[in-house]
Amino acid sequence: MRFAVGALLFEGNTFSPVVATRADFASKYLAFDADVLPALRGTNTEVGGAIAEAAAAGDELLPLMATHGGAGGRVDAGVASGFAGDMLARIRALPEVDGIYLALHGAFVSQDSVDFEGELLAAVRALRPRTPIVVSCDLHAHVTWPMLANCDALTGYRHYPHDDTHETGRRALAMLRDIAAGRLATRLVACRAPMIIPAQRQRTRGDGPMAGIRAIADRLMAEAGVRDLAHFCVQPWIDAPALGFAAVATGHGDEGAALRAAEEVARAMWERREEFLVETTPPAEAIARGLATPGFVVLADASDCVGGGASGDSATALAALLRHAPGATASIHLADDVAAAAARAAGPGARIRVGLGNRRDPAYGAPLEVEAEVLRATDGAFTYSGGLMGGVRAEGGPSAVLRVGAVEVLATSNACYEYADEAFAAAGIDVRAKKFLVVKNPMNYQQAFADAALRVVMDTPGPTTPNLAALPWRDVGRPLFPIDRDAAPRLSFWTRTRTWTREA
Ligand SMILES: [Zn+2]
Repeated sequence: MRFAVGALLFEGNTFSPVVATRADFASKYLAFDADVLPALRGTNTEVGGAIAEAAAAGDELLPLMATHGGAGGRVDAGVASGFAGDMLARIRALPEVDGIYLALHGAFVSQDSVDFEGELLAAVRALRPRTPIVVSCDLHAHVTWPMLANCDALTGYRHYPHDDTHETGRRALAMLRDIAAGRLATRLVACRAPMIIPAQRQRTRGDGPMAGIRAIADRLMAEAGVRDLAHFCVQPWIDAPALGFAAVATGHGDEGAALRAAEEVARAMWERREEFLVETTPPAEAIARGLATPGFVVLADASDCVGGGASGDSATALAALLRHAPGATASIHLADDVAAAAARAAGPGARIRVGLGNRRDPAYGAPLEVEAEVLRATDGAFTYSGGLMGGVRAEGGPSAVLRVGAVEVLATSNACYEYADEAFAAAGIDVRAKKFLVVKNPMNYQQAFADAALRVVMDTPGPTTPNLAALPWRDVGRPLFPIDRDAAPRLSFWTRTRTWTREA
């Protein structure tokens, strides 16, 4: 068979001031037409998975375009509409195909839309009214009813950390093949629970609460009539209507089985909602606990998570370390092109007065003025060792390593999604040889540094804070847990022919 394949991913955060540009996409991956397959073959990406699946089955792939902009605030309106136009122009020009597979994030936010994917898929459907369309999304997708209405099946990553992006691409293409061959008559349904949760307890492996939810979904997938059951925790920092947890089932034949499965997952999630809330510790207290604990300590500044849309330049944790643990060795990564340039201009061995961080998000205050020694300049490039960017080369841009007190600071020109310690290692920083490591993600570090003597989630400012109820919400649908703790919640249902709500 012959399938068109494309990818257009970005994770938005309406509380972040960072506007994503074309360079933010190009610094991860951005390929068009014949360049797509060579660029992504053998990577962990969804398109990499689709390539492997097509090769195994003898299918032909017609590449459209593929890019992932990582995360940020909103995508520049012109860049977003340009990418949509690029994708639609290629779909318009396609010869006859058996189906279209699109890897989307589901939480793409542009300067003029909080449902970019819903609008994109409606335009794709208008161009190809009878061609089967299968979509895959990130587990943090904000799945909207227009997205569902304009595709035949919608699946997603099943795991967080996202180490199954490749498998997701394979699964999506396999479903598309079955639909095209007439072996799968999809009954796409969804059930949404009015809740958002921080990322820290969303780990789908092990024995945490989300592993229990995934286990329910896996059990229900074994039932007759349910081909696929995706759970979407939703990107919790989007101030958009109808935000919430969604279970999306792709049924076969009987719609009732798919509906019961989606509702069971959404209800289980709702019942366990309190288990997902996170306790945070003030930085001074976190550092004191670290100093009292022998061994390697990880301090999580998850509120400044580039992978969730923050700027990655908060110097909050650095300031706290210099103040509360002045002699302790530590590593921290800041996105700071100005400091990187100043350090590179001064050269290795130089001592400079420089402001560090706090340039991109005014919520962090002024840059932290320090005296630093320049250790070395680097090109900021590294390759991800796993996760949804596994195998992809990242471009941190012109970078420098500075020593401030006993802290080694990696200053890169570009903000980088963080999986493990790849950026540090490429810059010659051995994070485990130091007392403290500041990480800026809510989840991946729990796996990457599972052996740390202590890991603490700090109470820090930023647009990816786990304290969701504290954010200045305006447009989001209410009631919504945990903003509203006592309101009577309702589950929302979608099928191709009707929508309705029911008491949770
Ligand atoms: Zn995600």
